[in-house]
Amino acid sequence: MIRLILLGPPGAGKGTQAARLATELGIPHISTGVILRDAARAGTELGLKAKEIMDRGQLVGDDVMLGIIRERLAEDDCGGGFILDGFPRTIPQAEALDALLGEAETPPLAVANLELDENELRRRIAGRRGEDQRSDDSEETMLNRFHVYQKQTAPLLDYYRDRVSAIDGRGTVDAVFERLTSLLTSTKERA
Ligand code: AMP
Repeated sequence: MIRLILLGPPGAGKGTQAARLATELGIPHISTGVILRDAARAGTELGLKAKEIMDRGQLVGDDVMLGIIRERLAEDDCGGGFILDGFPRTIPQAEALDALLGEAETPPLAVANLELDENELRRRIAGRRGEDQRSDDSEETMLNRFHVYQKQTAPLLDYYRDRVSAIDGRGTVDAVFERLTSLLTSTKERA
């Protein structure tokens, strides 16, 4: 069973890789960004509030996010493992996730950090504009998202220092996918 958290700055390719891994492994891809965008599209109260925050490049509150993730992980399809993309994004979220999953659970959560330098990130996000039409890929919001990432999410690398593996995010989707699958194979062998 694989339970993986994909970390990395905006534009590093988390969504693409998580979707592909999930298909390959037959486990759910849980993207909190997708859940929030779906809620916004559906026009729910939560979704509309979240959209305002997302469009500014800020983070939705920890309590709201925890409620979402608690419900999602309780669904039957998560019993055989899952891939988390975009959660956790703050230390309190990571602590709550640990509490939710229980320390005694095996295998432990695997954590992969997709690494890419800032120039490449900017290039990729610029290329994404107009492609999947995310309202938070504008220049201004993007700068904010980087800033928020540095301040609130990058500290997770220290929080997970005992279990995080760095993955080189450069190159083609296939090349990065290959690196991730070999990481998961070696994690499995160690478990
Ligand atoms: P993403 O699709 O992961 O880039 O997420 C898009 C936006 O959704 C983020 O910029 C946040 O505004 C919001 N969001 C997604 N996941 C979280 C989370 N775990 N905590 C707080 N906000 C989140």
